[in-house]
Amino acid sequence: MAVVTAHADDFTIFAGGTIAKMIGEGYTAHLIRITNDEKDSQDLSLAETISRNARELRKAADAIGIQEIYSLNFRNDEMDPVPETEVRQKLMLLFRKLKPWTLFTFDPSAKYEENPDHKKTARAAEDAAWNSAGHLAEPEQLALGLEKWAVLDRYYWARSLDDSDVNKVVDISGTIDQKIRAVQQHKTMMNHTAHQLKEKLAEANLRLPLLDTIDETTVNQFIDIRLRERAAAQGAKHGMKYAEVFHYIPIESEGGYVMRNVVPR
Ligand SMILES: [Zn+2]
Repeated sequence: MAVVTAHADDFTIFAGGTIAKMIGEGYTAHLIRITNDEKDSQDLSLAETISRNARELRKAADAIGIQEIYSLNFRNDEMDPVPETEVRQKLMLLFRKLKPWTLFTFDPSAKYEENPDHKKTARAAEDAAWNSAGHLAEPEQLALGLEKWAVLDRYYWARSLDDSDVNKVVDISGTIDQKIRAVQQHKTMMNHTAHQLKEKLAEANLRLPLLDTIDETTVNQFIDIRLRERAAAQGAKHGMKYAEVFHYIPIESEGGYVMRNVVPR
């Protein structure tokens, strides 16, 4: 599988349990990170932010069981001037090199997504999966010896998916601990998240006692509580303890003529 993540922490937060479970079942996963996460720290310099987030990403990927990481290093939150076709071209090159059956990424149709990097990543990844199968699309890649490649199925995650768009529910009760450990590796990003929340609450004259002191212990606790709460809420709707939900696009419509008649080659 190819996992296309805008930021270092998206794939662990939204799909880490499912990806870890599928790796346990035999999948090989390659991670493609679109941005350099240069702005995601509480008080570090830009260079230090980039370097720590990259190091912590490697640890998070190890916790999930992901082998290769390809970072495209577009500037975090500065992607507006970057043509989407430039991102698409790089993703097509990687799809044609890695030949993934399965794509994990943001849902390009998700409503109320606020993050500009998430939106651009979603559109470019879908577009790349669409075009990498064509012999007339980016033909210079084929001239280099790569082959056209059709991604077979796709798992789209979103910050909040409408229940009517959820058509794949994955029981992650067996991998929730692994997912939490992976998210806890993004120490710089999670520390920033905790501070941002605390500052926002303070503006509203509120405080969360757990975050009165922000350190590794309280941040890890906060991550544990939040991720279990989200996974339990999603699981409760489907009779599972912990779940992740996706909009899933299969190889061909399930139960349709093609899937009823295909045979092993
Ligand atoms: Zn993100």
